[in-house]
Amino acid sequence: LVRRMRGFGTTIFAEMSALATATGAVNLGQGFPDFDGPAVMLEAARQAISDGLNQYPPGPGTPQLREAVAAHQQRWYGIAYDPVTEVVVTAGATEAVTAAVLALCEAGDEVVVLDPLYDSYAASVALAGAVVRAVPLRPDEGGRFVWDEAELRAAFGPRTRMLLLNSPHNPTGTVLGREELALLAALCVEHDVWAVCDEVYEHLVLDGEHLPLATFPGMAGRTLQVGSAGKTFSCTGWKVGWVCGPAPLVAAVLRVKQYLTFTGGSPFQPAVALALGLEDAFFDGFAADMRGKRDRLSAGLAVAGFGVGTSQGTYFLVADVTPVVPAVLGEGAEVDGLAFCRALPERCGVVAVPVQVFYATPGEGRHLVRFTFGKRDEVLDEGVRRLAALR
Ligand code: PMP
Ligand code: GLN
Repeated sequence: LVRRMRGFGTTIFAEMSALATATGAVNLGQGFPDFDGPAVMLEAARQAISDGLNQYPPGPGTPQLREAVAAHQQRWYGIAYDPVTEVVVTAGATEAVTAAVLALCEAGDEVVVLDPLYDSYAASVALAGAVVRAVPLRPDEGGRFVWDEAELRAAFGPRTRMLLLNSPHNPTGTVLGREELALLAALCVEHDVWAVCDEVYEHLVLDGEHLPLATFPGMAGRTLQVGSAGKTFSCTGWKVGWVCGPAPLVAAVLRVKQYLTFTGGSPFQPAVALALGLEDAFFDGFAADMRGKRDRLSAGLAVAGFGVGTSQGTYFLVADVTPVVPAVLGEGAEVDGLAFCRALPERCGVVAVPVQVFYATPGEGRHLVRFTFGKRDEVLDEGVRRLAALR
């Protein structure tokens, strides 16, 4: 294995989902829903297979899906993209982010990220030979994860090439507000850097609203927006994502994407195009359902003794496991979220994901564990019942 990839082991999601399967535990770890997306979308994919849409679609995506993505960005954010030159369909958001980093970063360039960061970001940056500049987020008194402004400002400098932003933020559930985004935009403009915005949880904003960084002054010409059908339409296994932005940036991403996957799954593209055009009631109903699930899991975890933080978006919430550590790891045991998550399935039949493995900053988040609430209510209730029995 090449040196630049040696620091990357098996992903925490693979490890924890394997543990869930092996132990029969309730899996509140890996972020994927245990329910299906809209029935009309599923039917459209079946129909597409019957209709013989089983060969390579065009590399940048079908015209119909690119038009649907452009229409979606116009409808929700008032941003006009040319579907031909400013939208490319990717193999999930993961490929969109990787292709963007590979297309825009030279070896030695610095990429500013909010820390904790989604695991594929660090690997993408490493593949490009670039360097992560992590800005730690820490919980405020209300349990919302926020940066220290001086640390954020210090992360930008002459070597910064890109801000790789994720809001709503996995794993913390922070949704960046107008003032925070305005500061990021000002820093991007001041230091003349690209912004790649991973907005896969755009329709999973549970409190507040999603404001794309691309809509802030000076940002339209330097920002790529990344989305994913997996999150919005509960079809993570389809791996349909997209990237939108100014034509030269999108062309650069496409150049790389051609040689990563060339193209993506053809029958899913008309189905996702259809889903993107669903009425507001679908999107509002999805967020309302997830809000209910968040509240259900938060309340249950609090009763089970966890210190529950604030999740404004995504289908994740972060909890402080300190009060529960003695019951899981033994009296006097060190507070260590990774050890906690490795022991939890045996101990009580629940899987969660440690937050410390998402942090690039050493020593952060050792007491924090991420739970997903993107599960059926009865599954959430069973998970909570098992956790409460620890006490
Ligand atoms: N970005 C973030 C922040 C995510 O949480 C995920 C998936 N959990 C992805 C990207 C990957 O999305 P996709 O499956 O579309 O590649
Ligand atoms: N993004 C999902 C999560 O954060 C999992 C995706 C994966 O398994 N790589 O849980």
